[in-house]
Amino acid sequence: MLNVYKIREDFPILDQQVYGKPLVYLDNGATTQKPLVVLETIDKLYNRENGNVHRGVHHLSTITTENYEAARDTIRKYIHAAHTHEVIFTHGTTSSINAVAFSFGEKYVHAGDEIIVSGMEHHANIVPWQMLCERKEARLKVLPVDETGDLMLDKLEDLISDKTRLLAVTQVSNVLGTINPVKEIVEIAHAHDVPVLVDGAQGIQHEKTDVRDIDCDFYVFSGHKIYGPTGVGVLYGKEKWLNEMPPYQGGGDMIKKVTFEKTLYEDLPLKFEAGTMNYIGAIGLARALEYLQKTGLDQIIAWEKALLDYATEKLKKIPGLHIYGNSKQKASIISFLIGDIHHYDTGMILDKLGIAVRTGHHCAEPLVESYGITGTVRASFAFYNTKEEVDVLYNGLMKVVEMLS
Ligand code: PMP
Repeated sequence: MLNVYKIREDFPILDQQVYGKPLVYLDNGATTQKPLVVLETIDKLYNRENGNVHRGVHHLSTITTENYEAARDTIRKYIHAAHTHEVIFTHGTTSSINAVAFSFGEKYVHAGDEIIVSGMEHHANIVPWQMLCERKEARLKVLPVDETGDLMLDKLEDLISDKTRLLAVTQVSNVLGTINPVKEIVEIAHAHDVPVLVDGAQGIQHEKTDVRDIDCDFYVFSGHKIYGPTGVGVLYGKEKWLNEMPPYQGGGDMIKKVTFEKTLYEDLPLKFEAGTMNYIGAIGLARALEYLQKTGLDQIIAWEKALLDYATEKLKKIPGLHIYGNSKQKASIISFLIGDIHHYDTGMILDKLGIAVRTGHHCAEPLVESYGITGTVRASFAFYNTKEEVDVLYNGLMKVVEMLS
């Protein structure tokens, strides 16, 4: 079993007081804290090894380039991609999805075509597709969510038509915690020749991810949600798509030859990496993934499951508390409301007790509004959280009930 107290020593930020109370950080769905090894890597890179990648013949540029390309391969191995050049660095999930919406959309989506998203998507996996549909006079269709918080897969076949160009779905809902059966979804879509983009922003840190096993065409995630730095993310795409798709941004590093008459683009992956990338973030992200592997993904998953079960049982004891999202397959995310107490008020009181949770619509307005509410309180757990912290949350919520019911 994972020694969570030992793990916490790797995350110095957790050991502090907020308003005189020990910090209880339960907003891991928004962003995760970084282990020392990531912080030390970034510190060393800026202090000793900073040179722009793919640019110079000099020592610093050469070692940064080597580290950057090694980071790309670490990520390939982590997600089990077939080729290193299928891993494109971006600024995060949002920029990865926008990249596909622009590039794939430019080539393959035309007037009258259709894109399918699910009813539990984050705005990052809705708005870029809506913008594409507006540009191309295409249509956005939505796969609905049932009462438990699962996708209505039986409706998928009916939604797909010969006009469907792409299906975009989240691996894990950032509101409900539902772990979607992405492999099955891909199988259904592929039976109709529809490619699938999986939004791994909330999935990769809770699940073992194998893009070849899922067989998705695109897989995207953010570094900061998997214990890596902010401002870096990944777009994985199958080679056959990425080779055919046009670059969506032009500039330095993505070219082979530029003349005023015509530019020849670089091969993968650089074709999609215009300008100076967040190379230090990318190297930091690789260190974070190595740290997780060293800690043990099975142990991490088991501990998060234990935390989820413990927290769910505890929270259910709170009078008037309603949990949104009760799928059998859930990651360690719990969204809830207590009676008619406003989510913001609950969040504010918890904050004064040192407990960090997220409140609001969690950038998933269509889903949250489908419940006839304006938002929820969301506690999202990471493997460095403890059962004692769940108890602190429970006591805090009992205080909220006492004060506001
Ligand atoms: N998709 C999901 C499911 C998310 O939870 C988030 C972040 N909350 C995003 C996409 C967007 O991630 P980022 O802001 O890092 O681009």
